[in-house]
Amino acid sequence: MSRTQVFSALILRSRTSGESNRDVWLLSAESGLIRATVFGGPKSKLRAHATPFHSGQVWIYHDPVKDSRKLSDFDVSSWRPGLRELYERAMSADAIAETILASHGGGGNWETALALAEETLDVLESAGEELCERLLVYFLWRWADFLGLQPELENCVSCAKAPAQDGLLWYSPREGGMLCADCAGGESNGNSGHSGELAHNSGLLQVNPGCRRWLAAINLLSPALLNRYTMDGKSFREAKALVFAILTEALGKRLASWEW
Ligand SMILES: [Zn+2]
Repeated sequence: MSRTQVFSALILRSRTSGESNRDVWLLSAESGLIRATVFGGPKSKLRAHATPFHSGQVWIYHDPVKDSRKLSDFDVSSWRPGLRELYERAMSADAIAETILASHGGGGNWETALALAEETLDVLESAGEELCERLLVYFLWRWADFLGLQPELENCVSCAKAPAQDGLLWYSPREGGMLCADCAGGESNGNSGHSGELAHNSGLLQVNPGCRRWLAAINLLSPALLNRYTMDGKSFREAKALVFAILTEALGKRLASWEW
């Protein structure tokens, strides 16, 4: 018995397979990640359609005997040509795709995963250089929430205290949560001295109040409105380091595509 199924899907990656075919990886709303082969040479129309960041309805034929899948048709509804027009856009889009692939599509609520990826890519398509990097950090933070890994931002995970006067908390990759200065000092073997030293000695990441406010705000924000939320460079660097640390723990590796 063989069958063809229709999916709402986004192409994440495409690789040469054999002499003239290509393998594509898709995120579908119905079944999460799917790998399928696109048959046909370089002039094939289907092959031109089955390119990263195109999305729409795909028809996939499943051969249960060989357990292989073949892309048999693709009705593209979003082409996103702008992603290829600026280096930073292409790199951010690639980082988003590789993150989804490395976390196996997010495991369950694929419709939400697809919507988040598509919305972010739609804004990225016309974003300037600076916004590209912010959109990536936005996506990774929302993705951490989607994976159930966002830390509580305003209380120490160890003693439940709110931050002291200076408002600083420290993210501990080991605890998977924020620590107050006292508990952070404890974690780094009693070294409660200079804050830079603290982070250096223990892998703890400083997260200032401005950074935490931004992270809390973007949880409720459509990516289209992200350019309205300005933040200082220091807070942005902290946010970036934080999302990389959270996802590095989750994926078991730091993705090369996050940094360019
Ligand atoms: Zn504490």
